Amino acid sequence: MQKRLIYVVFVAGALLGVGYYLYRTLRPSLARSARVVEWIRNPQAHPEWAVRAGTHCGADAPFVIPTDGFIGYLWDDSFRLGHRHQGIDIFGGTEVGLTPVVAAYPGYLTRLPSWKSSVIVRLPEDPLQPGRQIWLYYTHMADPAGNSFISPDFPPGMYEKYVEAGTRLGYQGDYSGDPYNPVGVHLHFSIVLDDGLGNFRNELEIRNTLDPSPYLGLTLNARQSDGQVVVCEK
Ligand SMILES: [Zn+2]
Repeated sequence: MQKRLIYVVFVAGALLGVGYYLYRTLRPSLARSARVVEWIRNPQAHPEWAVRAGTHCGADAPFVIPTDGFIGYLWDDSFRLGHRHQGIDIFGGTEVGLTPVVAAYPGYLTRLPSWKSSVIVRLPEDPLQPGRQIWLYYTHMADPAGNSFISPDFPPGMYEKYVEAGTRLGYQGDYSGDPYNPVGVHLHFSIVLDDGLGNFRNELEIRNTLDPSPYLGLTLNARQSDGQVVVCEK
């Protein structure tokens, strides 16, 4: 009898723990999803939600905002169990191919031969941690069929082309790799670590990326967010 009671208490505790874990990890991202849907449906209703390309949001922030729009998802958001978002998503609130994407910081741009929607920019010196090299990854710059919105200055196979901060890289798109299942029109931006040999690490793993908060002067870490819309201080 007592054994059974212990078992019941154990199972109930485990279920509560799992439930609490799901609630804590998924709820903030679900709340942000609701705002993303609202923004995409009617961006004119919330002009105060938008950030502007080319702005510095903090006195100590080395990067400028890389595009216009609403910062819908943060670094370390969870869209599903076990998933951790490696960057931030800025939703332009326009159709594909209209909202410009600019370089957040100077560096050397590479676009691999197979890349339809992405570029990556090498920063020889991390401005916040001198002595290490980092990479800035910009993606979703194509339509659902993979027609690229990347500037013709950066064709596939372009290596190490110097760009200034504010250089137009392309336009936001909704390319996901699956033409029947495009994402909402946005830019995904992330900071990727170097492997120590001069190559960028796999940008799909969060452990290979950095919290972009101090670089952009905004609270962009999902675990530190207060749940409010992330905008520049006026
Ligand atoms: Zn993203």
